[in-house]
Amino acid sequence: MDAPRNDLDAWWMPFTANRAAKRDPRLIASAQGMHYRTPDGRTLLDGISGLWCCNAGHGHERIVSAIQAQAGRLDYAPPFQFGHEGAFALAARIEALAPGDLDHVFFCNSGSEAVDTALKIALAYRHATGEGGRTRFVGRERGYHGTGFGGISVGGLPANRKAFGHGLSGTDHLPHTYDRERQAFSKGEPEWGAHLADELERIVALHDAATICAVIVEPMAGSTGVLPPPKGYLQKLRSICDRHGILLIFDEVITGFGRLGFAFAAERYGVTPDMICFAKGVTSGAVPLGGVIVREGLHAALMTGPERAIELFHGYTYSGHPLACAAGLAALDLYRDEGLFERSRVLEPVFADAVMSLRDEPNVLDIRTLGLAAGIDLAPRPDASGGRGYDAMVHAFNVSDLVIRVSGDTLALCPALIVSEDQIGELVEKTRVVIRAVA
Ligand code: PLP
Repeated sequence: MDAPRNDLDAWWMPFTANRAAKRDPRLIASAQGMHYRTPDGRTLLDGISGLWCCNAGHGHERIVSAIQAQAGRLDYAPPFQFGHEGAFALAARIEALAPGDLDHVFFCNSGSEAVDTALKIALAYRHATGEGGRTRFVGRERGYHGTGFGGISVGGLPANRKAFGHGLSGTDHLPHTYDRERQAFSKGEPEWGAHLADELERIVALHDAATICAVIVEPMAGSTGVLPPPKGYLQKLRSICDRHGILLIFDEVITGFGRLGFAFAAERYGVTPDMICFAKGVTSGAVPLGGVIVREGLHAALMTGPERAIELFHGYTYSGHPLACAAGLAALDLYRDEGLFERSRVLEPVFADAVMSLRDEPNVLDIRTLGLAAGIDLAPRPDASGGRGYDAMVHAFNVSDLVIRVSGDTLALCPALIVSEDQIGELVEKTRVVIRAVA
């Protein structure tokens, strides 16, 4: 006779050690503001804004009621050849937040879809402008661009690539920008490393600019442990791209909507990319939504041919879903009315000082901070890379009433932009206890 079926069996959880998680599940029942509640009534501090997404905290009444009202008014409208007011309104709000002539917004449902959409728009642009030979993409080591075939091809995480074949052909990668010896314990953008953008010149010399479509980078690599861009690096990348007619795509799925104190990192660094990918914070995580903001020139190049012809053969059933747009409009209102991007900027030094106070704790090899994000590298255990990080995540949830994110042995902290100074202190003290517990 079959063993009785564990009712946690059916859901194959993403990016999860499923067997261990189901033996000792970490269940969340409800959320409000900076906190989660477990089914057995414990209150946990959310140290990572959901998954870098709930930038306005959880369950804000204005977002909740906007979603509820929208569900009663218009549950769905097809985005192919039809539209609804909310999608147009949200696109206009987003493009107004973006710098320069980043004037057009293509909606999808996630960061992964945003990345694949941006890569496809880049290729379609080359096709439309008679540069069909420019098909090569350049990403960066330690880059994370989601899990679509495009995203894993330009991404620079071996574990996310190795089981899935070759992906897009002909991609190349810039070196990552992290060097512990030269950058350890830096707050904000490290002084060392701008010259690493020059590696793009080497890649251009190797492949010829006429084969290169676009470069895609996260302004700050988030998922691989918070790697802030060295001072001047992004500006340099922009000018090398310009010199060779290469498009520059910023993947701002994490850095967008206030994480670095501005609507987009593009604004913080004074660099205007050709496209910005966004997701996560656009709805404060309440409903899935992603998108790409596109410069006027790219958009215009595709708006040709007979007026009744579709210009871009791309889109999703749920592009600009009414519930997502309602959540997005409410989230953007909240960010504006409560000054949350500015708040993130003001809290940046407070957060940086607090997190840096962990530097002398056991096994701490490095700490990096930028905006309201921090990466804390712990020394791996001999022969068990990632074991200390995993135990830290479990201990945090089960014992310290704290939710953190780990990537290998690196802990990430990225609280919601509503976090109070007291809660920053609490987050750091709980993290200290966790670090000691896994020493
Ligand atoms: N791009 C970046 C920079 C991300 O950090 C992520 C997710 O963390 C993605 C893309 C993928 O987003 P999603 O998980 O919504 O597909």
